[in-house]
Amino acid sequence: MKIVFSEECLNYGSPGHPESPERVRLAYEYLKARFEFIGPAPAAEKDILLVHSERHLENLRNLEFYDGDSPQYPDIYGYACLSAGGAITSAGAAIAPAGAATTSAEQCAFSLTRPPGHHAGPSRVAGFCYLNNVAIAVRKLGKRTLILDIDAHHGDGTQAIFLGDPSVVYVSLHRYPCYPGTGLKSQENCFNYPLPPLCGDQAYLETFKRALDSLEAGGFELVAVSAGFDGYRTDPLASLGLTSQAYRKVGELISGLKLPVFGVLEGGYDGAALGPNVEQLLLGLGSRNS
Ligand SMILES: [Zn+2]
Repeated sequence: MKIVFSEECLNYGSPGHPESPERVRLAYEYLKARFEFIGPAPAAEKDILLVHSERHLENLRNLEFYDGDSPQYPDIYGYACLSAGGAITSAGAAIAPAGAATTSAEQCAFSLTRPPGHHAGPSRVAGFCYLNNVAIAVRKLGKRTLILDIDAHHGDGTQAIFLGDPSVVYVSLHRYPCYPGTGLKSQENCFNYPLPPLCGDQAYLETFKRALDSLEAGGFELVAVSAGFDGYRTDPLASLGLTSQAYRKVGELISGLKLPVFGVLEGGYDGAALGPNVEQLLLGLGSRNS
């Protein structure tokens, strides 16, 4: 189980913004003695263009965009390229484990980088997101992929990118009503499961199982997890009342799909809880052969 991380992603931020470098620094400090870490390479422009428009890249480079939640940080394009590169590195590590005999833990990797990505659309900055990290990695690998979005917000950017794409199925569990206000109903290959605030572990896990059970078996080569932890019980933005045990169970259920899995950090704004919750998800993902 490898975690992709670079301290460079901690080098930007603005005071009081919930998507802070501190939350990821705390998670890294917690996880660094528990897992093997590797560094990302920045995503290449040609890979980013598999998802985003030329115009969007120009706007990011020139800081010519406006979204109330997503500040115009100097060189945010560089940081976003590195975060997208983290997703690509993580996906690559999951499908190409070292050694012949692999365990489920070796077929998993996780990118602990920022900025997050799932609200970013083809030509749109939104909700702390500039480039859609998961989408770039999925398009780059070109495999038939199941995207499981466990962030407590609907991944409207990811849905906009993959709606109608026959090579991808998108599944999202999210708090509703809540930002961004989408994801009330399923559409084509995008399956949405809105949940009430503070729904708790039992309702969440029953819904997650139902979502997996409703998928056609055997159709996927890869699982991508948009791993947000803002459904955690103490999260200040989007709590679903979940405990750390829920992330462990989610990991175990995904592990049961018996496919390579890569996870990419999205939200999660209780910084002290982030590392332990990532750990529980990863322990669950690696549990199949243990
Ligand atoms: Zn979120």
